[in-house]
Amino acid sequence: ADADTGGPTIYDKIIAKEIPSTIVYEDDKVLAFRDINPQAPVHVLVIPKSRDGLTQLGKAEKRHGEILGELLYAAKIVAEKEGIVDGFRVVINSGPTACQSVYHLHLHVLGGRQMAWPPG
Ligand code: 5GP
Repeated sequence: ADADTGGPTIYDKIIAKEIPSTIVYEDDKVLAFRDINPQAPVHVLVIPKSRDGLTQLGKAEKRHGEILGELLYAAKIVAEKEGIVDGFRVVINSGPTACQSVYHLHLHVLGGRQMAWPPG
């Protein structure tokens, strides 16, 4: 996994549409696109278009509260669009111990199959 350097990530290129992605939802603040390595029939990543220091949830500050709310609400919109709103999971991996690999905050929206708990 990469380290949290605060530098650019692959998601900057996805936001700039320099590398292709399958976009599921987009507004002025948020982009949602399919994970390249899906872990469920539906696996969508929801990210802020402006990272603004938000490399990982563990480094969130009070000023990030508004975008954090926008991201969580966008996860629900994605679940609706994908037809899984009756049962889905939202995951945020924060830091290397949690297997975060891209240091631009992102929500995983997972569904379309029975999920297990605890996740491991
Ligand atoms: P993390 O492990 O940081 O929580 O999740 C990063 C996610 O980004 C992984 O699920 C990985 O498959 C996804 N990912 C990494 N590179 C790309 C890419 O270039 N395109 C897309 N669509 N997903 C990516």
